[in-house]
Amino acid sequence: MYEELKKIVEESKRIVFFGGAGVSTESNIPDFRSEKGLYNAVQTYSHSPEEMLSRTFFMNHTGMFYDYYKNNLIHKEAKPNKAHIALSLLEKEGKMEAVITQNIDGLHQAAGSKKVYELHGTIHKNYCMKCGKFYDLNHIMSIEGVPKCTECGGIIKPDVVLYEEPLDEETINKSIKAVRNADTLIIGGTSLVVYPAAGLVNYFTGKYLVLINKSKTEYDNSADLVINAPIGKVMGEIVRINE
Ligand SMILES: [Zn+2]
Repeated sequence: MYEELKKIVEESKRIVFFGGAGVSTESNIPDFRSEKGLYNAVQTYSHSPEEMLSRTFFMNHTGMFYDYYKNNLIHKEAKPNKAHIALSLLEKEGKMEAVITQNIDGLHQAAGSKKVYELHGTIHKNYCMKCGKFYDLNHIMSIEGVPKCTECGGIIKPDVVLYEEPLDEETINKSIKAVRNADTLIIGGTSLVVYPAAGLVNYFTGKYLVLINKSKTEYDNSADLVINAPIGKVMGEIVRINE
């Protein structure tokens, strides 16, 4: 299995990696839908996580949104795992075209990857809704309650795609372009059922489609190689990581 993937990676010149929540869970960041995920955790709020992570809720209950958000979506202690590190090394070698991720934690950049398309945004960018002034995560975390703009007093919103909000068009277009130009598409840590993951796969016309996921996916039959194992373990075997 690993030998086959090694060969594919060696042969490839324009790899695109598409990653889901499974890439981050190995850095101890909970996902949403799995058994240990946020949606199945003991609920301590009077609203469901889905509701609290919606645009409407953000606008109407900004304080409670931030309370939930900071306690459940921010994991400042999280470190890149072997998957993140391996992908950044492949980029340095000139083999990796782009990393497309559904995660918002910024761990690919923390591992050194430069070309990262964050479909659902990132916790590291926050903007004043009135004047657009940028704020980093430290600023958001240092403020009790609702963070307000120091310039104009506007409410600061994380650059994270909430329910009811569209994905960023430019990010989608760049992702599609990368997938179209890829000779190999490696998909990891996602069951591929959630939009837009499934849609992006359809743009791939390259040579090798590789699926790495702990459990089976609907796309297993159309893949050239399927590895049912944790993504960090697999990528760590493929790329030599000096620890
Ligand atoms: Zn402002």
